[in-house]
Amino acid sequence: MKLADLIRTRQPCVVLTGAGVSTESGIPDFRSPTGMWADVDPLEYASLEAFRSGPLKVWTFYKPRVAMLTEAEPNAAHVALAELERLGFVQAVVTQNIDLLHERAGSKDVVEVHGSIRAATCPGCGERYPLAEVLELLADADAPACPSCGGILKPDVVFFGELLPPAAIDRAYDLARGAGLLLVVGSTLEVFPVAGLPLETLRAGGELAIVNRGPTAFDNKASLRVDLAAGEVLPQVVAELQEG
Ligand SMILES: [Zn+2]
Repeated sequence: MKLADLIRTRQPCVVLTGAGVSTESGIPDFRSPTGMWADVDPLEYASLEAFRSGPLKVWTFYKPRVAMLTEAEPNAAHVALAELERLGFVQAVVTQNIDLLHERAGSKDVVEVHGSIRAATCPGCGERYPLAEVLELLADADAPACPSCGGILKPDVVFFGELLPPAAIDRAYDLARGAGLLLVVGSTLEVFPVAGLPLETLRAGGELAIVNRGPTAFDNKASLRVDLAAGEVLPQVVAELQEG
């Protein structure tokens, strides 16, 4: 397959993943018409402003969401990307997803540009709590209250109206600039600043490959475009690269 050849010949390969890589794990793409935001105004539930003015209301939305993400399992695409890293064909995975599924599949170098559900932080005293503790607190409450000061914890996820974590964004841009191939998986590349990563790669002389169901903003700039589910495509790529 052409994708396997590109990955072999255009090293280093950096992967950029979006919601589409996790839909096969049963996690809806929140930007799709049937996704999580179809019935709610995201600004009302996932903005910094909403959290500051009404954290309990925000948690009525987040509690079931965190439960769903925690119960989801990595799919064949996550597993294949972890395998490609292990085999030395993938340098790092930059992801817009907050679901931890790359890490759970075995990926070691994961750059989470939108944060993750790994922990939650108390806006009152600054104490940080790992997911397991947050889940324990949520077991008998609608919202997790800080055991030290009683403040309502905020998930370490980038909310609307909040800056992306600068260290993660810097690393993502460095990786994109140094990439021989930027392999985009399950993203329509419409949301900045992540949508700026392919431009960095192309400007520095690297190439772009896109595995996504449906069109993306960079289809005409990609060396290769695969309009199939990542869970079908990536395991084949692993098999071909293993054969050598
Ligand atoms: Zn606190």
